[in-house]
Amino acid sequence: MSNLNVKIGLEVHVQITSLKSKLFCSCSSEYRGKPPNTNVCPTCLGLPGALPVVNIEAVKAALMVALALKCTISDVLVFSRKHYFYPDLVKNYQISQYDGIGSVAIARNGLMTINVDGKTKPIRIRRINIEEDPGKIIYPTGSLLTSKYTLIDYNRSGIPLLEIVSEPDLTNPKEARIFIDKLRSILEHIGLVNPELEGSIRVDANISLEGGSRVEVKNISSSKDVERALTYEIIRQSKALEHGEVIRRETRHWDDLKKVTISARVKELEEDYRYFPDPDLPPFKISKELIEETASKLPELPDQRVERFMKTYGLSEYLANVLVSEKGLADYFEDCVKICGEPESIGNIIVNDLKRWIDELDLSIYEAIRLFPQKDLCQLVDLLNKNVINIKILKEIIPRALKSGKSASTIVYEEGYVDISDEDVLLKIIDEVIRENPKAVGDALTNPKAINYLVGQVMRKSKGRANPELTNKLLIKRLNELSRASSNAN
Ligand code: ZN
Ligand code: MN
Repeated sequence: MSNLNVKIGLEVHVQITSLKSKLFCSCSSEYRGKPPNTNVCPTCLGLPGALPVVNIEAVKAALMVALALKCTISDVLVFSRKHYFYPDLVKNYQISQYDGIGSVAIARNGLMTINVDGKTKPIRIRRINIEEDPGKIIYPTGSLLTSKYTLIDYNRSGIPLLEIVSEPDLTNPKEARIFIDKLRSILEHIGLVNPELEGSIRVDANISLEGGSRVEVKNISSSKDVERALTYEIIRQSKALEHGEVIRRETRHWDDLKKVTISARVKELEEDYRYFPDPDLPPFKISKELIEETASKLPELPDQRVERFMKTYGLSEYLANVLVSEKGLADYFEDCVKICGEPESIGNIIVNDLKRWIDELDLSIYEAIRLFPQKDLCQLVDLLNKNVINIKILKEIIPRALKSGKSASTIVYEEGYVDISDEDVLLKIIDEVIRENPKAVGDALTNPKAINYLVGQVMRKSKGRANPELTNKLLIKRLNELSRASSNAN
């Protein structure tokens, strides 16, 4: 797959979930969980005569993101109508922004770096738009293809979105996943998006293979699924090209249950949308003061945080990057360090064990923190330092805590996970091992390296609970006694 010439560009739709109201009316932005079609007014229902008014907080949010992504900011804000006919779109046009003749996006020509296998790669940002979310189509008895009828809920109509579009600088599905994760981390650090809310980040992924056409996969809701959908498309398109088929320019849907893409329609061209400036929303100037004011409020961003983690905590670039890839993970790390210090071992445990299990069990970082809070990790590290448990047991307790929801200390004590550091108990096991392995004992008496085998046997008999250092010490003591006894006998 690596020798294919693949170009991937992403269009990420982000709900600005930190806002209180919709983009052009005063309806609440909290549409989730409400009875259908109750969070609406004449404006977001597109009733004749109702006029939109811009939510200035959405403009400030867009400027913040534009600055974080190093974009050039337009000096004028222009909204355009993007026309298409679909039941979720109340006015038959979406109020959006058009970057072309007679109009301009709020920000363009930005840059975001991603870290792929330890290397930094710049990805250009083409533009950022502000636009409104359409309503939501519901398929009560199946999917888009199979449902007998369709329902529509306009509670989401008019929710403020940012559309962030990259240049096609990504060359494989993994880079696409890393790009979205990094972007999400930036948005989280700015405090605009709560990624835990279902549907708050939706991605359209464009992909083309050399010799084919651009195919767009619409509405993918997680970075992992973006990676899966693009991998699926590379295989599908390269097989088709191999068989001499023509790849049409088209839009496809991602079926996140079957994990396949399905052809939806032949892609519209830009001309089909009949963009023109919205006469209900006259252009207004974006002042230098507003940009400066926004810049002064920019918080610490992921790149700066990675630097700080390396400098302040002495972490490797790799550890720092993984931690900061999710704000929740980086916050968790800093909370733990505040409670119990030891940034390096805490960082290693979080990245190598906790994060691994979060991925394997498909949890969100926030779910994981609820199941395995900061104080639990610190308790385990404390038990480790006191030799009550060993590192092997610590590593085993993390998935058990995440799976069972029990607290770490409960697992340690109730389930007999305590490290065996009691000399009498250990000596009993050691004597058994010595009795059962006369040949290995003979080897160990002449060759100190051979003792490792006996330590291994003790670990096995104790089901991994023997304290390794103490086992080693006691074994040497016992072997010395044995060799003294045998030389006395001679
Ligand atoms: Zn409304
Ligand atoms: Mn859009």
